[in-house]
Amino acid sequence: MNSKNTVDKPTNFIRNIIDEDLLNGKYNKVITRFPPEPNGYLHIGHAKSICLNFGTALNYDGYCNLRFDDTNPLKEDIEYVNSIKNDVKWLGYNWNEEIKFSSNYFQKFYECALELIKKELAYVCFLSSDETREFRGTLKKPGKDSPYRNSTVQENLNLFKKMKEGEFKEGKCVLRAKIDMKSSFMCMRDPTLYRIRFETHHQTEDDWCIYPMYDFAHCISDAVEGVSHSICTLEFQDNRRIYDWILKNLDEFNKPDRPYQYEFSRLNLEYATTSKRKLKLLVDEKLVSGWDDPRMPTISGLRRRGYTATSIRDFSERVGVSKVNSLTDISILESSIRDDLNTNAPRTMAVIDAVKIVIENYPEDKIELLKAPNHPQNNEMGYREIYFSKEIYIDKADFQEIAPNNKFKRLAINKEVRLRNAYIIKATRIEKNKEGNIKTIFCKYDPETLGRNPTDGRKVKGVIHFVESSRAIQAEFNIYDRLFIDRNPSKFEDISSIINPDSLIIKYGYVEPNLKNAEVEKAYQFEREGYFCRDRSDKSLIFNKTVGLRDTWNQ
Ligand code: ATP
Ligand code: MG
Repeated sequence: MNSKNTVDKPTNFIRNIIDEDLLNGKYNKVITRFPPEPNGYLHIGHAKSICLNFGTALNYDGYCNLRFDDTNPLKEDIEYVNSIKNDVKWLGYNWNEEIKFSSNYFQKFYECALELIKKELAYVCFLSSDETREFRGTLKKPGKDSPYRNSTVQENLNLFKKMKEGEFKEGKCVLRAKIDMKSSFMCMRDPTLYRIRFETHHQTEDDWCIYPMYDFAHCISDAVEGVSHSICTLEFQDNRRIYDWILKNLDEFNKPDRPYQYEFSRLNLEYATTSKRKLKLLVDEKLVSGWDDPRMPTISGLRRRGYTATSIRDFSERVGVSKVNSLTDISILESSIRDDLNTNAPRTMAVIDAVKIVIENYPEDKIELLKAPNHPQNNEMGYREIYFSKEIYIDKADFQEIAPNNKFKRLAINKEVRLRNAYIIKATRIEKNKEGNIKTIFCKYDPETLGRNPTDGRKVKGVIHFVESSRAIQAEFNIYDRLFIDRNPSKFEDISSIINPDSLIIKYGYVEPNLKNAEVEKAYQFEREGYFCRDRSDKSLIFNKTVGLRDTWNQ
């Protein structure tokens, strides 16, 4: 019972299919693939697909290939190849052997195309794109056969060879499968298999000027790699028919253990877009600072924001796999990271919107070192030293001149509050500047209250955080909110019109001195403020807010 096949294996319809296939002996190894097109950075939807493909293969002691689906040189770039490799590794997955590229199989695709031509199952078509559209018909109207459909095998072989040798201009002709112009599935109406593109490819340079279409290249790539379960998103449901048609008609691949395609629903996340085209637009139009802007739902953005790989894998498990399209609640993503950091992030204190406190009865030049736990529930995370002196910073929001009521748990004139990890103080008076803003709050402290309650039975309920002023380190805080003001940005073609103007607010405050050399991306809980991590910018000390301490979406 403790084999990998049975442990920690959430069931879903794909795993049910795999179980059955293994039981029937259809395959003896589960081989999956993750096939991104290198035309953008990976996003949270891809993360779901990565976790599904790599995670499922791992569960069954199989493996997963990372294959770049690089059949359209127009939009692809090596920058994207590299970022995708990084993101998959960072998520904690290893691909089988070396990375694969669909372009590795360009010669194979070509030979497969020749086989289909020889079987009278493919032909070179010279209809213009307008004519092709007209001949295709509509859902209600059957298509018409292309006049080129009945060219002889020899004619087609010659023409296809000429296409390959660059003798036709781009757009002049294409290679099409000869299937059925009357099919109720539009994609089966003689789909294009190859088109001409005079473009330098990032892997094969100028070796080819004909490029296979996704539908042709994908199934053959899967078959060449011996993939068993080819998992993709629902919009390819109809295309499954082409997938099967092509493999069935190629002798080498027409066998029972060939790959089969299964579809699941895409992940759509509230307040985010998972369209690569729209994400690229945000970057190109400089509406965000780049693909890894912490407001982006890209893997690199989430990482810079402070999300951990564990939390993203956990999120993928939580949302599950289904065939129903829906809009996933952003709070599911946020609780995945919050649960991880609540357990694992060390606590520290940061004052984001500072006001100075002077403790009048504290000795002038004294600096005390106090001990503070790094995690209130986990002693193993140890202790750190914090400073205490006559001058400290607290957050402006933790003080009001007059306490609004008895339940007020922060500092007010004549009201006591505990400073986290230190003493109880009471505010006595304030000093304002010319504009009428509070400049300094004067307090008294009770020296008997370090780590214990007042001996006379006074009850002090509120606890606020602070940073000692002479040792405090100045820091910048990026406070993020959702990038869009609409819950479902996919409804909008012009997403620039729904950008949240407050999606980034920059604040300047103070952190404990031990954060001076904080590791980039390492998460901290700034007590009472939220979870933060250091940004990788080396300009100064910048912290990105990952998520708040509680779910505040519905407030
Ligand atoms: P494109 O429009 O450029 O094809 P794409 O989002 O389909 O964009 P791919 O690079 O082709 O991007 O995707 C790689 C894999 O990730 C595919 O198998 C695809 O089904 C899967 N994938 C993409 N977006 C999502 C999503 N939102 N949810 C789940 N899986 C996704
Ligand atoms: Mg795609």
